[in-house]
Amino acid sequence: MSAQQPSASNTTRRYQLFIGGQWVEAESGRTFASVNPATGETLAEVAEADAPDIDKAVQAARRAFEGKWSKVSARDRGRLLYKLAQLVESRAKELAELETMDNGKPIREALYVDLPEVIEHFEYFAGMATKIEGETIPVPGRMFNYTLREPLGVCGAIIPWNYPLVMAAWKLAPALAAGNTVVLKPAEQTPVTALELGKLIQEAGFPEGVVNIVPGFGERAGAALASHPGVDKIAFTGSTEVGKKIARAAAENLTKVSLELGGKAPNIIFADADMEQAVNGALMGIFFNQGQVCTAGSRIFLDERIKDEFLARFRERAEQIRIGDPLDKQTQMGPQVSEEQLNKVKYYVAVARQEGATLVTGGEPPALSGPLAHGYFFRPTIFTDVKNEMRVAQEEIFGPVAAVITFKDEDELIQQANQTIYGLSAGIWTRDVTRAHRLAREIRAGVIWINTYNIFNAASPFGGYKQSGYGREMGKHAIELYTQVKSVWIDLSGRPMGWYNR
Ligand code: ADP
Repeated sequence: MSAQQPSASNTTRRYQLFIGGQWVEAESGRTFASVNPATGETLAEVAEADAPDIDKAVQAARRAFEGKWSKVSARDRGRLLYKLAQLVESRAKELAELETMDNGKPIREALYVDLPEVIEHFEYFAGMATKIEGETIPVPGRMFNYTLREPLGVCGAIIPWNYPLVMAAWKLAPALAAGNTVVLKPAEQTPVTALELGKLIQEAGFPEGVVNIVPGFGERAGAALASHPGVDKIAFTGSTEVGKKIARAAAENLTKVSLELGGKAPNIIFADADMEQAVNGALMGIFFNQGQVCTAGSRIFLDERIKDEFLARFRERAEQIRIGDPLDKQTQMGPQVSEEQLNKVKYYVAVARQEGATLVTGGEPPALSGPLAHGYFFRPTIFTDVKNEMRVAQEEIFGPVAAVITFKDEDELIQQANQTIYGLSAGIWTRDVTRAHRLAREIRAGVIWINTYNIFNAASPFGGYKQSGYGREMGKHAIELYTQVKSVWIDLSGRPMGWYNR
């Protein structure tokens, strides 16, 4: 496809599976439709991987790991990753458009957030490939002990639909930098850009089988990958519920697992916060990417003293969010990814009402006309008078629904903020530096944002406490997820060991 091609909502694309460097049909011959959630139209027909295809992909990845890839130097792995970053950059516009059409996210997010993050990720780990080192250990006696940090082997990556390309990059970049091969299963809702990435992986010159891309459904393709005995490691991002299934399946073969799961982040606003910044941060926390973010600041803890002023401004700004065609650069909010997700959001709105929360704004789809009338849109929604025990404050909705809980006292606030099964992230808005750092320690979560929200960088570790998962992606920490340590001993004395001497 060329960059000039019209935003092709009425041309259906076709994709095959990418296995062992070849584009192939599924063994079953089956395909599935990937839908544009802004219109409900089919964007692409995609070959559907199932257990036999997963098996083929794992075997291809194994052959590559034991064959050509093991002979590629760290420097050359880095160069391939860098080349891939450049190829992604040269096609950023069309990849962003495809991401928007497959996922529904506004083009301004796809183009200015997702794509730059993908490029940065491949660049960062391109540089990391040559910095994966062992250590020498000062052991006693005339012995030399050192460690080698070696790849794990075949890594299965199962990723979600909210950041399709970003998630592919988070998994592929460190795994490949460290010398592993990968079988990537994109989410069934959004397989298109991962498959486009497959073309660029080929063009960059990665040996065949180093990366295999096998879209299919979770319970079939995903489950087959998680339980495959030929897989050395599973890296998963998705819901906590599915994360548990994956951990169970992987346990059968003691496959190593890293999990980046759900969240119900507290976004805490103190009375001394800069009001404009805090309102902005609350919007960013819950409405960015239609609220389909695992770090979404979905529980807004609000200092009682500023309740009225904050809510008035938050409501006003939420109502100004421009909902519409996600391919339009002015649009700030697109549709939820699927009808299923839209129904989930509607369900939780009903639950919140039943529980006695007060609807401030939203709570229903917007009135849109033309093709967008068939899209899965929902208005930015705010509930107040929420109690932390309510389901709307405890269960991950993964949509644009903010639950506002007021607080009076810091100790009570901390206790409530931590009262959740999740621990992925938190936001703190205050001008009091001491309090900000105190809370950063008290909140049990993997990422704390102070006077900012939803900020990521390839160099900074990311992952969850509690049921938000285990393992840290990004930065140097990611290398730990994709390597294992070998300890090597060598005798320097040249004499027999003492034990069995006369
Ligand atoms: P979400 O709730 O955000 O849709 P899921 O956790 O359901 O996310 O899905 C994330 C990824 O996990 C997707 O690629 C999906 O196909 C996959 N998946 C879903 N169920 C399973 C399963 N039982 N085993 C393996 N993968 C699964």
